[in-house]
Amino acid sequence: ILETEHVSKSFGSLEVLKDINLKVKKGEVICIIGPSGAGKSTYLRSLNQLEKITSGKIFIKGDLFLHRENDKTVERIAKEKQKELLLEMGMCFQRFNLFPHKTVLENIMIAPIKVKNVDKETARKEALELLKSVGLEEKADEYPNRLSGGQQQRVAIARALAMKPEIMLFDEPTSALDPELVGDVLQVMKDLAKEGMTMLCVTHEMGFAKEVADRVIFMADGVIAEEGTPDEVFNNPQNPRTQNFLKSIL
Ligand code: ATP
Ligand code: MG
Repeated sequence: ILETEHVSKSFGSLEVLKDINLKVKKGEVICIIGPSGAGKSTYLRSLNQLEKITSGKIFIKGDLFLHRENDKTVERIAKEKQKELLLEMGMCFQRFNLFPHKTVLENIMIAPIKVKNVDKETARKEALELLKSVGLEEKADEYPNRLSGGQQQRVAIARALAMKPEIMLFDEPTSALDPELVGDVLQVMKDLAKEGMTMLCVTHEMGFAKEVADRVIFMADGVIAEEGTPDEVFNNPQNPRTQNFLKSIL
């Protein structure tokens, strides 16, 4: 459902992603782990067009989404098509960036109404259902700053889901949270995985990765240094760098 071929990204002379090749199947849950500065966030942001890749190809649902070489876009994909494919990806960051002057419900309704022309009543109904699914229906009319960090993050997940993406990208969604709030957010992510959502999660939650991931990717220095099932990567890592990394976080 998502494929990257030879994706590279440099910031000036700093090569942050080096020839990343990855195929993600529909319904697959992939956890990306690795040391700080490895390029994990840059990779997710590149998929989502928040960063411009230097070279490589990205396919979404089998359609070419982007092809760049040496900083130049090679194939001009129709803008409309590209927009449509971009909407297949929802993203959730470490910081939730909810609109502070809108209620929880309005935060979730706004994108479907503005971007997808969903009518207000439908958007409202769907937003309430999503809130229920993340366990926050009673907070619908609350403002974000009156919620805990974990609750805000669950709203942010619901907001991304409101656009009905086929793929969810998570960049350390729990790392800014107090430990006691992490569990609820991980539970929402586990539920999503169970429902068959395709997910790419950058995470430091090794327990989550072990339990939920179909595949674990260890990224270091801009390359995929190792990949495999959670059992392979956590219990029998082949690459010394993976071994060192795992030692350092235990
Ligand atoms: P962390 O675990 O700390 O979040 P990460 O694996 O997500 O790390 P990235 O944020 O992708 O790492 O950063 C990879 C490298 O790219 C780092 O060396 C970083 O300094 C550099 N980098 C990231 N964004 C920029 C930018 N906008 N301009 C220049 N360099 C950047
Ligand atoms: Mg990061």
